[in-house]
Amino acid sequence: MSVVDLELVSKYADIGVEARQLLGKSEQEHYANLSLKWEGGLIQADTYVVFHCAVRGPAKGGIRMSENVSMEETRRLAELMTYKCALAKIPFGGGKSGICINPKTLPVEARRTLIREYVHIFEPFLRNGAYIPAPDLGTTPSDMATIYGRTHMPECVTGKPPRIGGLPGREEATGYGVATSARMAATSIFGKQPSELRVAIQGFGNVGRWTAKFLNDWGAKVVAISDVNKAVYMEDGLPIAEMMAMKTLADASLPEISHDELLLLPVDILIPAAVENVITECVASNTGAKLIVEAANDPTTREGDCILQARGIPAIPDILANAGGVIASYIEWRQAKSGSLTERSETYAAIEKQLTRAFEEMIETVSRENVSHRLAAHIIAVNEVVESMRDRSWV
Ligand code: NAD
Repeated sequence: MSVVDLELVSKYADIGVEARQLLGKSEQEHYANLSLKWEGGLIQADTYVVFHCAVRGPAKGGIRMSENVSMEETRRLAELMTYKCALAKIPFGGGKSGICINPKTLPVEARRTLIREYVHIFEPFLRNGAYIPAPDLGTTPSDMATIYGRTHMPECVTGKPPRIGGLPGREEATGYGVATSARMAATSIFGKQPSELRVAIQGFGNVGRWTAKFLNDWGAKVVAISDVNKAVYMEDGLPIAEMMAMKTLADASLPEISHDELLLLPVDILIPAAVENVITECVASNTGAKLIVEAANDPTTREGDCILQARGIPAIPDILANAGGVIASYIEWRQAKSGSLTERSETYAAIEKQLTRAFEEMIETVSRENVSHRLAAHIIAVNEVVESMRDRSWV
């Protein structure tokens, strides 16, 4: 099933039957069994690469490495990328990769070899510019460095370490964008400044920790954070600066709550920044949060979303809230093509500019059409993609 309900969107935007048919399916789906002989045994990983729609530019989207990733999940994530780029007015299409293996079980050298094998199999797409990967759940700038090392083409991958053609500010770009979206939403919806906010964050990886850092810097109280190991809570705010030095929460000596409790806390903003399908019917019915800001991709189920709407809890959708990463990736790609250099402050300014414009367009559509923030973002993004199809005479 598509993430975006095209039938519903077509009630608000002139998208036509042909465009709906094109957007209802991926343009390309590829499968490979990555395998390597390792210390006398065999390591195998089902691997998926999906291009959802490349009408607006090359397929862009991260590589997810997780023992749960499937073709279906990769397909949904690629679809989200199409609309995320369109909403941010970035000339990229939607793509995604999934490598089905638990990264924690891989020795460093085996991981590097597996990524090289990924490049070996999908090299034609990387070299001809059809697909540009980046880090996602379970992958890091160091993995992107491995990809660059195999192709020697800086424009074929983003999220590289800054010393080898990466972008200053790319590492924290998604978190900066999430924090910026949370700040804009709190001001526009509740009239609250960051210093008046209490926030809970699920996930303490790249996105969760940087979101916490920026919100904390701007004066918000981040009262709860979880990772896969544990959830921690402090009524007066967690010591975020100290926590930034921790790789995981496993050894954190901070007061604990359960993972489930974190999702139900009475906070101003709940930020899911880990995996999909966490805002379920049950969480949506019982959460004490006044606003959801979706840092993770696809964190709210359709049933959960209906309940949030019925309870009047706004959700700033993933395709807007976490678009900071792809905005920075676009600048990194452009830098690689032109040979120019970018300052960190320019990366932040570009994220702020594109997100502010997208946010204002979303709010304007919410009030004009009397729809949810998610539906408003979908209407704008689908319309943008369909207009691009018309520009290229696809429909
Ligand atoms: P990551 O691998 O760096 O971190 C994931 C974090 O989630 C880890 O702290 C992990 O312990 C935690 N986690 C996993 N399962 C959990 C659970 N059940 N409960 C609590 N915590 C759990 O990944 P990331 O790059 O931070 O990505 C997180 C989300 O943001 C994903 O949905 C990803 O698609 C999305 N996203 C990432 C980027 C990016 O630039 N990295 C960009 C856009 C969207």
